[in-house]
Amino acid sequence: MKIALVTGGSRGIGKAVCLKLAAMGYYIIINYRSNTAEAENTLNEVKQLGSDGELLPFDVSDRADIRKSLSEWKKRNSDKYIEVLVNNAGIRKDNILPMMEDNEWDDVINTNLHSFFNVTRELTTDMLMNKYGRIINIVSLSGLKGMSGQTNYSAAKAGVIGATKALAQEIAKKKVTVNAVAPGFIKTDMTEDLDEKMLKRMIPANRFGKPEEVAAVVGFLASEGASYITGEVISVNGGLYT
Ligand code: NAP
Repeated sequence: MKIALVTGGSRGIGKAVCLKLAAMGYYIIINYRSNTAEAENTLNEVKQLGSDGELLPFDVSDRADIRKSLSEWKKRNSDKYIEVLVNNAGIRKDNILPMMEDNEWDDVINTNLHSFFNVTRELTTDMLMNKYGRIINIVSLSGLKGMSGQTNYSAAKAGVIGATKALAQEIAKKKVTVNAVAPGFIKTDMTEDLDEKMLKRMIPANRFGKPEEVAAVVGFLASEGASYITGEVISVNGGLYT
């Protein structure tokens, strides 16, 4: 069975990605940090789609925790490998730079940028040995154009975009692609505190996006049909760029 790991798969965009990949026939490893009830809901929905999966909680900002969880998973599944990795887990801690606390900078960089390195390094060798893999990073419009009040988040997402382009070139020969998807405003818990009525006026499509609209692009990038696309960043933002 083909296996996909989705970080932050319990809620929001990550959940929609789990369901999309399950519908494509993938066995889904659902990572999350603390919300076990929501992760179990996602797993039940994966099963309702006729697929299967498991929960694998770890903190994507904690290198030791990741190493332990993934090496134990590999020991239990020595005949298998994870062929699709979706680096999706992320947080926001917005503040203007002069007021930004150390933890607001550090937590956002650790969870959104260091997570890419922490998780991807553990899985790339297996993809290379099997000469097939898909790495898909969920970044953000903020990482492309920068967003006021989000120097931490914009820096982290821009960092992942640079890493996406570099890693894509390192491993393209071995049939492993690395791409990024950059959502604009998507309706999830992360954007619950935002004033949608006011913000949607700046969006040409005049609405926030749905998690499923991001997951559709992830599904395409995970498919064999996307074999010749690597090092790309695909925006899903209703026309909102500048
Ligand atoms: P969300 O609804 O807040 O869900 C976040 C998910 O990430 C949850 O599953 C959460 O797990 C998990 N998570 C957070 N910190 C983690 C950690 N340290 N270790 C492991 N898992 C962790 O967020 P979302 O809106 O779906 O965002 C998903 C991704 O899209 C993020 O990378 C975000 O930056 C990006 N994005 C979102 C938007 C948007 O408008 N929503 C726009 C651009 C980019 P728990 O359930 O355990 O807390």
